[in-house]
Amino acid sequence: MIKLIDENGLRLDGRRFDELRPVKIEVGVIKNANGSAYIEHGKNKIVAAVYGPREVHPKHLLIPDRAIVRCRYHMSPFSTEERKPPQPTRREIEISLVLRRAMECVLFLEEYPRSIIDVYVEVLQSDGGSRCASITAISAALADSGISMKDLIVGCASGKADGQIILDLSDIEDKEGEGDMPVAYMPNLDKITLLQFDGIFSEEEFKKALDLAIMGNKKIYEVLRKALMEKYFKTEEK
Ligand code: ADP
Repeated sequence: MIKLIDENGLRLDGRRFDELRPVKIEVGVIKNANGSAYIEHGKNKIVAAVYGPREVHPKHLLIPDRAIVRCRYHMSPFSTEERKPPQPTRREIEISLVLRRAMECVLFLEEYPRSIIDVYVEVLQSDGGSRCASITAISAALADSGISMKDLIVGCASGKADGQIILDLSDIEDKEGEGDMPVAYMPNLDKITLLQFDGIFSEEEFKKALDLAIMGNKKIYEVLRKALMEKYFKTEEK
């Protein structure tokens, strides 16, 4: 078994148990999308693009009093160490579903009856926690598109490695650690929109992991807010 935390309490990449990986967000990166964003979260490099609200095709999918949301999370074949086949895997289908459900909570869908909002997520390079980084990027792209939202959403996982609760797992911590808990969070409403869990935690560990993930999410929210402000001020200058 790989030792993930050394005797000084440092993780393989030098972080302490409660430190995030570096997060960078850029808003408005795809010309043809209604809203878009690029995120680097650790080694994750992800683009999210929003199209719509627009007319629904095929028509039988239409809902008369609200918009429907469609989401595709896709890992590019070159995003992993070993080439990943381009067709969607079961994991990508599951992540597409959980991302869609997480964002449906935050949108005022009833403001856009009979329409569809398409959200595409392309993982260019993957590290652990790509679903969490994707939700942050989606939220930036949705805000960029101008679709009415109740709050922003940010995503960050916590987990367990070498018996310790840690924040924001990297790929190796995700694979070799004892547990992983992705959390998406609406910071102003103080509500969780996604919580998945894999591993065995005691009740105390679960509470600690949840608090840590929320703390990490609040820090990512600050980065997201700054990225949106940056886009806004840049547009003002033009
Ligand atoms: P998340 O990216 O949300 O943590 P998982 O826990 O399912 O999702 O995956 C952890 C990591 O495993 C991914 O971020 C990625 O780096 C890696 N991974 C996922 N699928 C593959 C694959 N088909 N081939 C190689 N690596 C993969």
